[in-house]
Amino acid sequence: MNGASLAGQPILILPEGTLRQTGKDAQKKNIAAAKVIADSIRTTLGPRGMDKMLVSSIGDVTITNDGVTILDEMEIEHPAAKMMVEIAKTQEEEVGDGTTTAVVLAGELLKKSEELLDQNIHPILIAKGFKMASTKALEILDEIGNKIDINDDEGMEKIAMTAMTGKSGETAKESLAKIAVQAIKMVSENGREKINKDDIKIEKKQGGSIDETELIKGLVIDKEVVHSGMPKRVKDAKILLIDMALEVKSTETDAKIEITSPDQMQGFLDQESKMLKEMANKIIKTGCSVVFCQKGIDDIVQHYLAKSKILAARRVKESDMSKLAKATGATIVTNIDEITEDDLGFAGIVEEKKIAGEEMIFVKECKNPKAVSILIRGGTEHVVDEAKRAMEDAVLGVISTIELGKVVVGGGAIEIELAKKLREYADSVGGREQLAINKFAEAVEIIPRTLAESAGMDSIDVLVELVAEHEKGNQYAGIDVIRGKISDMKELGVLEPLKIKTQAIKSASEAAEMILRIDDVVTAGKSKSMPSGPGAGMQPGGMPEY
Ligand code: ADP
Ligand code: MG
Repeated sequence: MNGASLAGQPILILPEGTLRQTGKDAQKKNIAAAKVIADSIRTTLGPRGMDKMLVSSIGDVTITNDGVTILDEMEIEHPAAKMMVEIAKTQEEEVGDGTTTAVVLAGELLKKSEELLDQNIHPILIAKGFKMASTKALEILDEIGNKIDINDDEGMEKIAMTAMTGKSGETAKESLAKIAVQAIKMVSENGREKINKDDIKIEKKQGGSIDETELIKGLVIDKEVVHSGMPKRVKDAKILLIDMALEVKSTETDAKIEITSPDQMQGFLDQESKMLKEMANKIIKTGCSVVFCQKGIDDIVQHYLAKSKILAARRVKESDMSKLAKATGATIVTNIDEITEDDLGFAGIVEEKKIAGEEMIFVKECKNPKAVSILIRGGTEHVVDEAKRAMEDAVLGVISTIELGKVVVGGGAIEIELAKKLREYADSVGGREQLAINKFAEAVEIIPRTLAESAGMDSIDVLVELVAEHEKGNQYAGIDVIRGKISDMKELGVLEPLKIKTQAIKSASEAAEMILRIDDVVTAGKSKSMPSGPGAGMQPGGMPEY
């Protein structure tokens, strides 16, 4: 039906080709689509999770275990499925890890809600119960989370290692974790103040081995020294950062100069070289020994800088310029006439090195750098790519731990404990909401259940045993997936930032509630381009905006 009438007045005519699904039909289809997404990445969860090989439409291959990367590469069309992708993205942005957990949880919540829908429980009631459960879950998580200090290196390294779970960086996990923690400590101001993840630049260069991954107290820049006559290594470097073309302007504009005689031509060229020479002299006079320029550097300027033994690089990325400023303490200048000694920054060493056949400039041994680099190495492109993702997870994991100052114990232990406490809460609530809260608790158990499966264990037996352990008060009992048995996960050092879990619960529950509230899906006909993004083509709350 593409129209409705009220008192004889047609109030709506949907365009030709519009597809409409209502009521249970719409709900079932949305839930099914969301479940497909959750199922597709479920097997990647945990240290024993499998990798996915993704082949794009142009044949590029990505091998990964990373939830958000997988979902990003899949070309997802269904609006409810897209919402699942959004969950992963939010998780990635907010925490940087736990994307698989969040999506799998959302899928399971929807699966459980289907069971309730089949018992004719109204979707709004289910959504309400889920909301109550998630609010309570956040409280519980905060209560059972353990405090941790940024100066607890060992604890922080454990978090970094858990964050790298399942990624191929795993072989060098310990050294990578140490690097991640050191990097964060270097850029963190006054202990536990706000840490900006952008202050840690993670660069990758294929070649060498993962163990050669290094932390640079400063920056690595994917540029080469601009002139062959310049030094390749400068000690105790005084660094000038300049955001201005070291060229003569007229060459960039369309101004026409009429030249009528060879003399005039020569005069013009002389004039230009004179200006460029002056420019170079102004730079040399500042006493700098290294120049990073965001724009171009004319050959003549290069020549004079080289004569003065100044190392220079041009067309440095804006983001690198600001990191250089943070790492070296330099100010980025935009006017060559206003440079003072104070504008210069410092680095113990600036040098060009060949890494895997390509030149890179290392700005090292900065004093108190507020930005640092991690250079990831590895034998093949796939290895460095995945090691980079592992390092990103490790860095973000530690940062988000510092943010809330709390950790939880992984390996399914936290989920079992949470489910147990949610069931107690459900009993205290009673009524129909109790059913939804209990289903929520069951859904949370999908994490230990999946971990058990990936370890080749019988998930039903494992769950029964885990619940019994937790009843006995062993709140850290979880699944040692490597050895395939139940263990104390705290002793095993499987620590995760509290924020992974709170964010996953929040976004999974919100998405499930939202999908449950939809009972009408109106999809525009093919002639119109589909709007993209979450909620596209959907009218929440069963109230289409006619
Ligand atoms: P996500 O994308 O959700 O971070 P992961 O593949 O990183 O997915 O898996 C995270 C899960 O693996 C968490 O539940 C975590 O507690 C668990 N985990 C990590 N390391 C271990 C370990 N050594 N033993 C058991 N479980 C682990
Ligand atoms: Mg992870």
